[in-house]
Amino acid sequence: MTDIPRKIIPLADLRYASRIPAVPDRLTTPNGLLGDTRGRPLRDLRISVTDRCNFRCNYCMPSEIFDKDYAFLPQSSLLSFEEITRLASIFVAHGVEKIRLTGGEPLLRKNIEVLIGMLARLQTPQGKPLDITLTTNGSLLARKAQSLKDAGLQRVTVSLDALDDAIFRRMNDVDFPVADVLRGIEVAQRVGLAPLKVNMVVKRGTNDGQILPLARHFRHSGAVLRFIEFMDVGATNGWRMDEVMPSAQVVERLHAQFPLSAINPNYSGETAERWRYLDGGGEIGVISSVTQAFCGACNRARLSTEGKLFLCLFATQGHDLRALLRGNFADDQIAAAIAPIWQARTDRYSELRAALPPEASAAPGEKRIEMSYIGG
Ligand code: SF4
Repeated sequence: MTDIPRKIIPLADLRYASRIPAVPDRLTTPNGLLGDTRGRPLRDLRISVTDRCNFRCNYCMPSEIFDKDYAFLPQSSLLSFEEITRLASIFVAHGVEKIRLTGGEPLLRKNIEVLIGMLARLQTPQGKPLDITLTTNGSLLARKAQSLKDAGLQRVTVSLDALDDAIFRRMNDVDFPVADVLRGIEVAQRVGLAPLKVNMVVKRGTNDGQILPLARHFRHSGAVLRFIEFMDVGATNGWRMDEVMPSAQVVERLHAQFPLSAINPNYSGETAERWRYLDGGGEIGVISSVTQAFCGACNRARLSTEGKLFLCLFATQGHDLRALLRGNFADDQIAAAIAPIWQARTDRYSELRAALPPEASAAPGEKRIEMSYIGG
């Protein structure tokens, strides 16, 4: 494995690039049919509940940047559970049906079960319960799975980049043993957090040799293993196109060992392309933001830990909803402020990236917000 020298980029100013949305004079009642400039509905809200993590995966939170001197957000700037739930209910009125809790590592947020309980009480305008899920690195899952389930969490996605303990420890960069994450997955399945998904970020030359071992491990397990192309998220992970393993090659490698056939998406806007093993071994997925952009049906909005709304994973600018919350604006005013933001949305970074020469993955001067800040 070759150590590629990384360009160190100062970070402090990035988190604060946002505007305070205007509150229109004429308030309109949300009707759950908000569409952006491409007709994409607002259906999926990803909420980052902490910018901290106990791992230092180098494609997300490289340790040379997120070191002991890194200034994580002070508690006072984080949205409280009441504020998160208030904003979530406003987004639900605008059409959101699915909430994914992310981070950093969301299980590090104290009493997260309380927040899950508050969100689980929300319903869509049609009276349906929300689809509440969470993405975790699995380090605390064995201990927390039961209480998460009891609080109302329905399912969980666990990030797992290798089965080989040495490679896994190297990739999380904090020497964390893979066995503890595997045990967390077992406990989560046992308590009924399902369907359980396992996400592997594939970096060519780093862990692509783990594609088959992970597939072998999760076949016939009921868990859905997904392979994610290494993405140029944020401004610190030293992304290079030659470290991307296109999903087509991942599928080819798996198919040669375990024949696969393509299956239809579960719903419009699903990020993963689905495949099933012909021998009944279960399902896998590939998430191909680099080689097969899926912006056309992207119905995802993201809320940062301190209440900024981002319309794309590769955004460079946010909208400060916390200022409205703490500015004593009423829910209908905040709802009216959010509507034009989504309606004006044009984001399609992955499509645009495809048109750029391989190494120029961002327009000059533009710096993208870190994934560890707004969630994957
Ligand atoms: S690049 Fe942005 S617009 Fe495209 S799918 Fe990802 S989050 Fe959505």
